[in-house]
Amino acid sequence: MTEHAVVIAGGGPTGLMLAGELALAGIDVVIVERRANQDLDGSRAGGLHSRTIEVLDQRGIAERFLSAGQVHPSVGYAGTALDISDFPTRHNYVLALWQSHFERILAGWVGELGVPILRECEVLGFAQDDGAVEVAVSGATSLRAEYLVGCDGGRSLIRKAAGIDFPGLDASTSWMIAEVEMDEEPEIGTRPEGGGIGPVNRAEGGGPFGVVLRERQVEDTDEPTLQDLREALNGAYGTDYGVHSPTWISRFTDMSRQAASYRKGRVLLAGDAAHVHPPQGGQGLNTGVQDAVNLGWKLAQVVDKTSPESLLDTYHPERHPVGARVLHNTMAAVALSQPDDRHAALRDTMTELLGMDEPRRSIAAMLSGLDIRYDLGAGHPLLGRRMPDLDVHTADGPTRVFALLHDARPLLLNLGETGGFDISPWADRVRMVEARHDGGCALPVLGEIAMPAAVLIRPDGHVAWAGDLTDPELPRALTTWFGARP
Ligand SMILES: Cc1cc2nc3c(=O)[nH]c(=O)nc-3n(C[C@H](O)[C@H](O)[C@H](O)COP(=O)(O)OP(=O)(O)OC[C@H]3O[C@@H](n4cnc5c(N)ncnc54)[C@H](O)[C@@H]3O)c2cc1C
Repeated sequence: MTEHAVVIAGGGPTGLMLAGELALAGIDVVIVERRANQDLDGSRAGGLHSRTIEVLDQRGIAERFLSAGQVHPSVGYAGTALDISDFPTRHNYVLALWQSHFERILAGWVGELGVPILRECEVLGFAQDDGAVEVAVSGATSLRAEYLVGCDGGRSLIRKAAGIDFPGLDASTSWMIAEVEMDEEPEIGTRPEGGGIGPVNRAEGGGPFGVVLRERQVEDTDEPTLQDLREALNGAYGTDYGVHSPTWISRFTDMSRQAASYRKGRVLLAGDAAHVHPPQGGQGLNTGVQDAVNLGWKLAQVVDKTSPESLLDTYHPERHPVGARVLHNTMAAVALSQPDDRHAALRDTMTELLGMDEPRRSIAAMLSGLDIRYDLGAGHPLLGRRMPDLDVHTADGPTRVFALLHDARPLLLNLGETGGFDISPWADRVRMVEARHDGGCALPVLGEIAMPAAVLIRPDGHVAWAGDLTDPELPRALTTWFGARP
């Protein structure tokens, strides 16, 4: 039996991100992954939204991903392109980057942090008691850990073995998805009812082509064949464009389900293990990565005993509503993609609405993840929201807020009068930085806001407290989020 503080089942995007967060906090973590490497059968996520890029920027690794993808100024929803170039973020775009590249780059970072990955190894089950979780893995090995996190995808064994309900909707629609060659030049672009054809290599254009086609009836069992794809192409375009040589052909559906609880004792769920929904709006991978960033520092602080175990109880109330909102907006997107005339009229109406500034900003901020606000009570508009990446001047010279978060440690940023608060009881966990910020601060949707004198920023970049350093709430917030004074 090998002991670790945390075992992560699944080394997809969510498991990798969580492992990186835990390793940064010095936690002994291991990933158990069924696959031999990060290769994927078929294309999955095609891009990163603003908040995910920001989260990577908070760790100093955004550039690795940006240099491997292409930026686009718009997020897509229900067939409409929503321009976000006016959003107040350094990453006011979508990054087109296939999931296989994303996973490869992220795994590189996790490798640099020294996280062991048990590859071609499968979690078979677990047993938990008050003190630990024993995790059975293939190869007759067994692991013992303080916590087990199921990042093992939509069919999560961890979720099922924990007996966590997965309520939601069965599939009402299915889509065929394939990577193929075509003898004739196809019609490139999205279709009104969703899906369409595009070059796999977006920068170079030409074949091979990625094809996504809505099916006439729900198919959620057998793998589709090339003949099925020919028929679907003929149905949609009146030609099959001489399709041949598929690299792969697959299918996805609009099944929408969410775990009733993200935690059961020493077992937690994140990513697709906690929520599955159709890919409309491209939010699945992004939501999983952000689950991981919300959970990582909390789990680290509980494991190293900085915080009581109850800190983990904040994970579900913060992340479940975010997942629920994704399920909700993808359900709406599927409804809007019905091919009949009435739904076409509804799409037109929606497109008209989304052409107006306020609806555009509201829906695009939701899809990009920039408007997420955890309910930390009433207070300053920044409370519970992501801290914007402001330019600041410190004693060490000019820097920006995200650079101060690279080590994933809590930050008390004082932008007002120097001094005025004794951080020493928390100084082993919270870094206090005196800084100056010239200029304003804007949030997507809300617009310009008045900057508070100081902000307490959690390692995930969300604001835990905002106000004046004399505010008696500050010591309370420090204790709530980062543990009591020793
Ligand atoms: C067609 C399609 C298009 C998509 N497009 C987008 C998009 O544009 N944008 C977006 O954000 N998302 C998109 N998604 C969703 C995205 O792919 C998923 O949300 C994302 O992969 C979830 O990551 P994860 O790490 O939570 O789970 P997964 O990627 O499913 O990873 C789970 C990992 O666990 C491993 N595993 C499973 N069981 C075990 C076990 N018992 N023991 C050990 N290892 C195990 C698996 O091998 C896998 O590596 C799309 C998905 C599909 C299918």
